[in-house]
Amino acid sequence: MKNCPECGSNKLSWCCQKVNVGMAIHGRLCLHEIGVIFVLGCDECSETIDTKSGDDIAAIMTDMLIAKDQLTLTSMFAKLIE
Ligand SMILES: [Zn+2]
Repeated sequence: MKNCPECGSNKLSWCCQKVNVGMAIHGRLCLHEIGVIFVLGCDECSETIDTKSGDDIAAIMTDMLIAKDQLTLTSMFAKLIE
C-alpha cells in the first residue's frame, strides 16, 4: 500500500509511540509495562493506515538479516507497506 485509502495521498509517515501494555494507570507504570508501537499515518488527512508493534518491527529486521537484505530504513519500511 503506497497511498492513503481515505484521500489517495502518497505522503505517508511512520511514527513511534509509547503504549501502556500493563494494567497500571498512567503515572504508575513500571518500565516492563511500557511498549512501543509504530503507526503509519497520512500526512494529508491524518488517517491511521497501519500499526506494527515493536516486536513486529524487530521480527522484520531479523528476517532481513537472515535473508542478508540490505538493512536500511528505506528497505525496512518498504517491506512494511508491501
Ligand atoms: Zn489521507
